[in-house]
Amino acid sequence: MLIGVPREIKTHEYRVGLTAAGVHELATAGHDVLVEHEAGRGAGISDDDYRAAGARIATTAEEVWSRAEMIVKVKEPLPAEHHLMREGQILFTYLHLAADEALTRAVLASGTTAIAYETVQLESRYLPLLAPMSAIAGRLATQVAAYHLMAPLGGMGLLMGGVPSTREAHVVVLGGGVVGEQAALMARGLHANVTVMDVNLERLSQIATVHDGGILTRYSTKLDVAEQIEQADVVIGSVLIPGKRAPKLVTDEMVSTMKPGAVLVDVAIDQGGCFEGSRPTTHSDPTFEVHGTTFYCVANMPGSVPVTATAALSSATLPYILRLARSGWRQAFAEDPSLARGLNAHGGKLTHAGVGEAHGIEA
Ligand code: NAD
Repeated sequence: MLIGVPREIKTHEYRVGLTAAGVHELATAGHDVLVEHEAGRGAGISDDDYRAAGARIATTAEEVWSRAEMIVKVKEPLPAEHHLMREGQILFTYLHLAADEALTRAVLASGTTAIAYETVQLESRYLPLLAPMSAIAGRLATQVAAYHLMAPLGGMGLLMGGVPSTREAHVVVLGGGVVGEQAALMARGLHANVTVMDVNLERLSQIATVHDGGILTRYSTKLDVAEQIEQADVVIGSVLIPGKRAPKLVTDEMVSTMKPGAVLVDVAIDQGGCFEGSRPTTHSDPTFEVHGTTFYCVANMPGSVPVTATAALSSATLPYILRLARSGWRQAFAEDPSLARGLNAHGGKLTHAGVGEAHGIEA
């Protein structure tokens, strides 16, 4: 199969759909890969790296889109790319169609076979192509919190892990899923004192067991959250109720009880945020102040580490790309029902109930 990798054109998007190692795996399996000139630059992959791995380099996006049988991307096609989608081609990327009616209609008008990373789902409900980005956001959440605790950044001037004879930071993580566990792991690694709160007792039990008591766990009731918030130096918000807006677990009133210079990172901001005072921010202006504390609410945290994020994404998508390239999408879906759950649209028809419901279009 001829697989095309266009350059991402979204502002501040430095990731790319395939690493050079991914290209090499596909080339070794007998497939052709066409990569747009400079597509990997932001992720530290040069055209020569791709060539050495067996790819050919295309001068324009048009060349990639018009020739490839499958397009492998990171972000959804932007309006400037809509006319490039076409029938008879597989589009494999993050799509988030439920949040974008104009894109949904463009996908349907093009007739493309759209397979969305975010709806590929295992029987266990695990989302294998979303989890790597959550893991990155979780680890980053602790890094940015430690950074913003520093006095020149407006923080309280506390070193997260302290040193012998001083106190360490008290880090409270709300939601012990993929983001929350990775955030807690990093905070523990920096020698902070960490408590994870969740409403899923099985999850809390797993975290307590796996981390051998090094990470404390508490059931998330309003009163317990309020008590923890008052004592916290850092709060990381990582709750998720799938398909819904995040519940507002931390009220402004709770924030007003915190120490000045505390840091609150709302990773769940892409679902509306789980702190009352949260609003989305960007990498160029990531924080704002609420009651003397620092809020960090960047909605695309993994975008700041494109080298890691590209490698993690490519490792997760590669087995599915290989299967699609080897068998074609119909046979690949028959072989792997989790991949079949990724199909959002084909030949001008919606095939995902959630997207249909969001826009009142029959699926
Ligand atoms: P997940 O499903 O693995 O974990 C969510 C956890 O929240 C679950 O364990 C669930 O039991 C828990 N939860 C639900 N209600 C709760 C409550 N009232 N109190 C405490 N815990 C509660 O989800 P995830 O992959 O960890 O993602 C978390 C959020 O981070 C999502 O909104 C996701 O979209 C977001 N995210 C943001 C970025 C970013 O760049 N900002 C990047 C990746 C993921």
